[in-house]
Amino acid sequence: MIQSAAITSPPKAIASTPELPRILAVDDQPANLITLGAILETMPVEFQTAPSGPTALARILERDYDLVLLDVQMPDMNGFETAKLIRSSHRTRHIPFIFITALNTDAHFIRKGYELGAIDYITKPIDPAVLRSKINVFLQLHTSNSALREEVAGLKNQEERLRKANKDLRHQAQTDPLTGLLNRRHGHTLLCREMSRVERGNQDLSIIMADIDHFKNINDTHGHPAGDAVLLEIARRLTQSFRPHDLVVRWGGEEFLIICPHTSFAQSLPLAQRIHHAIRDVPIDLPSGLAIRVTISMGLAHTSTLRGLSAEGLLAQADDALYAAKRDGRDRIRVAQV
Ligand code: GH3
Ligand code: MG
Ligand code: MG
Repeated sequence: MIQSAAITSPPKAIASTPELPRILAVDDQPANLITLGAILETMPVEFQTAPSGPTALARILERDYDLVLLDVQMPDMNGFETAKLIRSSHRTRHIPFIFITALNTDAHFIRKGYELGAIDYITKPIDPAVLRSKINVFLQLHTSNSALREEVAGLKNQEERLRKANKDLRHQAQTDPLTGLLNRRHGHTLLCREMSRVERGNQDLSIIMADIDHFKNINDTHGHPAGDAVLLEIARRLTQSFRPHDLVVRWGGEEFLIICPHTSFAQSLPLAQRIHHAIRDVPIDLPSGLAIRVTISMGLAHTSTLRGLSAEGLLAQADDALYAAKRDGRDRIRVAQV
């Protein structure tokens, strides 16, 4: 509600209730501010005053106002000049104002006020009923504006939630839930995308098919949760050992596909050897506290030595190389040859 004012001095700002629309009255005559305060006393607004244009500008820059009642005739800086300055700053230009003037209703002045962006115009002596009714119209606008703003904020929130839900869904659809690696379907899509670059002559790439040796034994001996722990740790070491732009895919149960784009044949084998060692050289801790040594077999296929193959053709070559590694005793790397 409104603050009451001492008769001899302009009403001072009183501690505010933040939800109330905040109105700033600007007039060089203390008596006028007191009159305005008295008229608005019964209205649900926070009423504040400024004795001049410069003071009003300083207040408006300090905190947001919902409406400014602006006297036109003031020394130093008149109401029109004050309005112009309010309009000129992007921080304050949204604030609506009503001109209050003792000038007669000369069309020239009224037009000037509206040109400056006034939402209304009233003349002194102020008719309290007229002022209250104009403020009421403004208050209704303010209320529906606030409701609209809230609704827009709610919609934005909802949109943000939907965007996030969509992103999560996409992530789920592309990711293996146990290891967090790319799943087979998404890995296949990405391989096809990379292969089309190979076809255009833009790059060579290698793929590595890797399979854990005797993994069934690990499950059988230590239990399924221990098997899961091994899968997780191998996924972690694969991700850490390859380069950031390589793609690590959980291709099947204990089988992984690594796609190495923009990689020469000469770079490929050392890359595969590095991962082979990263897994075999360091025992893996099981949930039981036991640590076991695990090895993998790998089949490598490179587009420069296997020209003209499709994604499926290259995968088949890597698979054959992997099974050659298994056949030859496991724990080794075989390279697909033409
Ligand atoms: P090889 O050296 O010839 O590859 O033998 P292997 O025992 O590793 O291969 P095999 O295909 O005989 O067994 C794979 C096992 O992997 C069987 C399956 O139960 C297990 N497996 C598949 N997915 C998971 C999983 O998500 N968690 C666990 N713990 N085991 C899995
Ligand atoms: Mg296996
Ligand atoms: Mg297997």
